[in-house]
Amino acid sequence: MRHHLRHLLGVTGILVAVLMALAATPDAQAMRSTKIAPGVCKTVGGGKFVGIPGFPGERIDRRLLRDIRWMRRAYDIFITDGYSTAPYHAPNGEHPIGLALDIVPHKARGGTWAKITRLAKLAEPKQNRPRAPWRWVGYNGDAGHGRGHHLHLSYLHSDTKPRRPARIVYTHRCPQPPEKPTEPSAKPAPKKTPRKPRSGGVAAPRTSAAAVTSASTRELAPVVAETAGADLADAR
Ligand SMILES: [Zn+2]
Repeated sequence: MRHHLRHLLGVTGILVAVLMALAATPDAQAMRSTKIAPGVCKTVGGGKFVGIPGFPGERIDRRLLRDIRWMRRAYDIFITDGYSTAPYHAPNGEHPIGLALDIVPHKARGGTWAKITRLAKLAEPKQNRPRAPWRWVGYNGDAGHGRGHHLHLSYLHSDTKPRRPARIVYTHRCPQPPEKPTEPSAKPAPKKTPRKPRSGGVAAPRTSAAAVTSASTRELAPVVAETAGADLADAR
């Protein structure tokens, strides 16, 4: 009996230790974003597949939501697919990890193919030379993509497996961190420090996908082009 009790206490002790260790590990949901160049934001952590506001049934890694909002306002985009494990998407592409968007004009909101073409040119000024944070752009010149069909945008990311959000993602706009539980804080809000005046007026160099890639090659998964016909949004 005494032995049994001691055993039980021992097990409880181990359980408590494990629980304490779990509580001490940093929040797995923590999201850290850093603007690394004009129009390029690096985010570590915080990946999760969520619904896209305004596009019922479509899901995406939540770290792309601010980019989507920006593209809706600036280019009147309509999203026909985001996170998807459907077999017609490249299995090692970005749809199965929620980092690819299939886009057509949102005609009801004034969208046109001219606007989509402008967005495509921003993301890929030269064929097969996408600008960071995009890693592969499917449009004119790519089979199964283009004006009148659809624009595909893939984002740079660290290696991961299908259905698993990548640890590191690059976006155009820094994502909004997930809502934290409201902390009862008596501390006054920190004072805003005045912005430093821009020095010189020399424009920062445009960052290319290649530059980001070479800067952090080990963090990034190899680029995968969606194969012809494998990415037809309307193949469903
Ligand atoms: Zn696509």
